[in-house]
Amino acid sequence: MSVFLHASVRDSLRIDADRILASLDSDEGRLVLPKNFYEPPDSTHPPSAYTERLVDRNGIVLFRNGQFADYLPAVKGPPAKPAYSLADPDLSVYSVPVTNKGTTLATLQVARSTEAIEHALKQLFLILAFSLPFFLPASAAGGYLLVSRLLRPIDLMTRTARRISAEDLSARIGLPETDDELGRLASTFDEMLARIENSFERHKRFTADASHELRTPVSVMKAIISVTRKRRRSPEEYEQALEDLEAVAGQMGNLVNDLLALSRSDLNPAVRSERVDLGSLLSNVAESLRSLAEAKGISLSTDIQEGLFVEGDGDALTHLALNLLDNAVKYTKEGGIRLSARSSENKARIEIADSGIGIAREHLPMIFDRFYRVDQSRSSEGTGLGLSIAQAIVRQHRGTIEVRSEVGRGTTVIIQLPPA
Ligand code: ATP
Ligand code: MG
Repeated sequence: MSVFLHASVRDSLRIDADRILASLDSDEGRLVLPKNFYEPPDSTHPPSAYTERLVDRNGIVLFRNGQFADYLPAVKGPPAKPAYSLADPDLSVYSVPVTNKGTTLATLQVARSTEAIEHALKQLFLILAFSLPFFLPASAAGGYLLVSRLLRPIDLMTRTARRISAEDLSARIGLPETDDELGRLASTFDEMLARIENSFERHKRFTADASHELRTPVSVMKAIISVTRKRRRSPEEYEQALEDLEAVAGQMGNLVNDLLALSRSDLNPAVRSERVDLGSLLSNVAESLRSLAEAKGISLSTDIQEGLFVEGDGDALTHLALNLLDNAVKYTKEGGIRLSARSSENKARIEIADSGIGIAREHLPMIFDRFYRVDQSRSSEGTGLGLSIAQAIVRQHRGTIEVRSEVGRGTTVIIQLPPA
């Protein structure tokens, strides 16, 4: 503040001096003062605050004006260049040489009182000295409140993260939606928790379903054994019991294989990669299921483009086609199944269309879920894993699978795989 105020005083002193210098004249090395030189400069400069003095080369005062003229520092020879100085009492002084053609004729001194400035500075100091002790704690407290409010979301996140355990993933930060950095971080965190909880729930359900599914054939086998052993049986009856046991064991083996395939696809999303002749692979699968379809009185026609190749795992792709054709045969009572494969839009496009019972719209989103069956009693032979396995295989091959269906009309499954 002091520096600023003194600088502004020096600025106005320089302006004063320039104005006076401009009014001075010289005649053959002698200083000529204009006629109106002795008039007070102007009304904005009350003489009390403004002082000027003109001293010639020999130290003789040519002119003086203002109440502080006596306090100005003595002139010991003309100054080489303009200079500022301070004098008592509270004066700011500006001394400039008055020159004409290189020779110095006199010294001009202008001065202003800085008393008002010193007074103002003293008051400012007092105000600061008294207010700072109150102001500092208040601003510290304000800062503390502000920072702790800002950091509250982070604190919440820390506490939420601490509350989360494998048993309970339902904790959320639940901050109100704000579009600042922390708000976005909190909502991203919540979204991530939701995804983790979701996949965790699905895994839990899968394990529960799997054990449930495995328990059924075991109880059936136990029942067959205990009924058979109730009394002595004829060899034919033993034969029958063994046959029944074999069928159930076969079912159980299939289920275990399916579970293995699924967990393998979970563990190892990368796929064995070889060049697979999709056309002949599909023809082989269709041939292997033809007798099954014909036994049910369903026709199975194929329309497979020659030389259709994809990059992938041949065994997995066979498994995929088997699962889908098996569904088509299983859920079709009359009519036919059509398997077509061709390259379309630079992709291998497989379509399996049947004229079966169809799937109601409300079930479509769930049919890829593990163990999901539309009608639990109707499809008692299946476990509901076929389509989840199919989806896992298609994903491993970076393809897409889509099911279109109409109840009573039939179902079409469309698979698109990237080409080799
Ligand atoms: P799995 O294939 O494990 O032996 P599944 O055939 O019952 O058992 P998915 O193949 O996953 O299981 O099919 C899920 C459900 O979707 C089936 O239970 C069936 O209700 C329905 N579904 C699948 N394909 C068809 C189809 N082509 N026509 C009608 N319904 C179908
Ligand atoms: Mg199936």
